Amino acid sequence: MIQKSLVLIKPDGVQRALVGEIIKRFENAGLKITGMKMVWIDADFSKKHYSAHVGKSFYPPTEQYITSGPVIAMVLEGIEAVHTVRKIVGSTEPKNSPPGTIRGDFAHMSMAYADGKKITIKNLIHASGTIEEAKKEIELWFKKDEIHGYKTVHEVHVL
Ligand code: GDP
Ligand code: MG
Repeated sequence: MIQKSLVLIKPDGVQRALVGEIIKRFENAGLKITGMKMVWIDADFSKKHYSAHVGKSFYPPTEQYITSGPVIAMVLEGIEAVHTVRKIVGSTEPKNSPPGTIRGDFAHMSMAYADGKKITIKNLIHASGTIEEAKKEIELWFKKDEIHGYKTVHEVHVL
């Protein structure tokens, strides 16, 4: 039941100074930050991270976007964390992401607009989509000794 998920605050989130606002939402839900760092990835690393999307029409602008500035990479831990994090983040297309979600509150771009302009969907966050994806992504982004085990008050009052 207790899972870890990989979350990235993408370059638009960092450059729009939304890092604190975004992290607050995960902390408020009781998710535990067990790893965190700022990284500026290159094209090779992007191809590893987005290995499932390399070759798709939206991959080139997606690579350009994720390599355009540093990201904040985090490992978040909690009950069914993969699903919980995606719920807080919202859906891929900000236009259809409800208010209250990160993508719905801080963006409104549509797929049609992004595809028409041949840009990627700027949606502030990456979050692992499945448990398998989370495992693979955490191994790609974090060394074992960069992930920390500790107790939070939530483990006393929420879990
Ligand atoms: P996510 O798991 O919600 O981030 O979505 P995906 O894994 O399907 O796609 C990865 C990223 O590629 C998304 O977050 C978007 O930035 C971008 N993207 C995905 N699908 C499309 C699309 O159909 N058009 C465009 N322009 N960008 C897309
Ligand atoms: Mg995905």
